[in-house]
Amino acid sequence: MLETGKRERLRSLPAVDAVLRDPAGAALADRHGRAAATSAVRGALGELRRRISAGEEPAISGHAVVALASGLLPGRGLRRIVNATGVVLHTNLGRSVLSERAVAAVVEAADRYSNLEYDVAAGGRGSRYDRAVPLLRELTGTEDALVVNNCAGATLLSLAAVVGEGEPEVIVSRGQLIEIGGGFRIPEVLELSGAKLREVGTTNRTRLSDYEEAINENTRAILWVHPSNFEIQGFTESVGVAGLASLGLPVIADVGSGALLPFGEEPLVGDAVRDGAALTVFSGDKLLGGPQAGITVGSAPLVAAMRRHPLARALRADKLCLAALEATLTAYLEGSAAEELPTLRMLRAPEVEVRARAEDLARVLSREAAGLEVDVAPSVARSGGGTLPLYEIPSSAVRLGGVDAEAFAEKLRAADPPVVGRVHGGRVWLDARTLLPGDEEAVVAAVRGAIG
Ligand SMILES: *Cc1c(COP(=O)(O)O)cnc(C)c1O
Repeated sequence: MLETGKRERLRSLPAVDAVLRDPAGAALADRHGRAAATSAVRGALGELRRRISAGEEPAISGHAVVALASGLLPGRGLRRIVNATGVVLHTNLGRSVLSERAVAAVVEAADRYSNLEYDVAAGGRGSRYDRAVPLLRELTGTEDALVVNNCAGATLLSLAAVVGEGEPEVIVSRGQLIEIGGGFRIPEVLELSGAKLREVGTTNRTRLSDYEEAINENTRAILWVHPSNFEIQGFTESVGVAGLASLGLPVIADVGSGALLPFGEEPLVGDAVRDGAALTVFSGDKLLGGPQAGITVGSAPLVAAMRRHPLARALRADKLCLAALEATLTAYLEGSAAEELPTLRMLRAPEVEVRARAEDLARVLSREAAGLEVDVAPSVARSGGGTLPLYEIPSSAVRLGGVDAEAFAEKLRAADPPVVGRVHGGRVWLDARTLLPGDEEAVVAAVRGAIG
């Protein structure tokens, strides 16, 4: 039975010529030349044959083959995608989009030598953190700071540096023993850091007395974690950073999203600092709106211990990250972050503005795509990236109907650049909140190609 299904699926695979005659296939040949396109389509078909033989049931339409083939063409590494999902910090689509100033800084650091670890005035060795650290100090009012590869790395390094020798213990509430996307589990990170986890309280309720009773001579720190991607509602109780700091042990606060400006109920970096966290740890590419990075701000002796730890070298941030981060932080210092950073602009755009964009796009699409049912409907956008899971941002979407929605969405993804929307209620939804300047033209081209 199964074998027959496989055989039929293998037989239904389109021929190379048929794929190249398909409009999407012809466009591929136009762009990359017939020879390269033919060889990529052959490769794609080979890959599909392999998957089918292995028992998978991949999509085998001409468009699916073209989508796979375009990924095999040289020079097609990371590439632009039109995010019409309405999820602003979409982890699979690269989270934050950098500001123009950050992009310019990356280019300058990338195509020339730079003062990465060079003190220009002294003519000698400097530190790669010489520029980012003063910016972070000033923005957060802390003594010192360190930048590493990502927030997971910063949490690990801060714990490893604080716990030290002996039989160190770190106290965490059971309500905060969470997993953040991609298998980053707080209990496992603690174990890696060399500390023994002392769980206190229950999933829904932890009191200050629970922490107090768990303290012993081996306790080195209290970890407070923002549960980011989930929320417990109802009969709950937890202790904030200020309460924990009153116990006299260093508090490491993993606030995750890195909000420097207020957004929804998301905890602010500045709040954790003000409430007395010894170290506050956060991501660079979530609500901060910068590059992937893990930032720690806080007490000078503890940050110095982090810098000395061997993991600091293993997790260090590279020059492109630092260039983008410095430019992003400068926008905050100059007070222009809300207008300058694309992530913040998309999150904060007024509902009427998003609706107007959706209506403009719908007007063009109805004109260009006869036969397609086009309208605008209210939709819900989300911040994403493990922030504010229940927080709904009112938005507007262009809806495309009168077609097989799944197949149409697949064709939009086979366009160049691919357009990624959502399928819901038998229609394709293109959320206007996450469209960037110039994306409308790409959407129109993709829709034209998909109906053509
Ligand atoms: C997102 C998140 C992390 C992981 O951040 P990365 O920068 O992706 O490593 C860690 N802790 C919390 C609380 C988070 O929300």
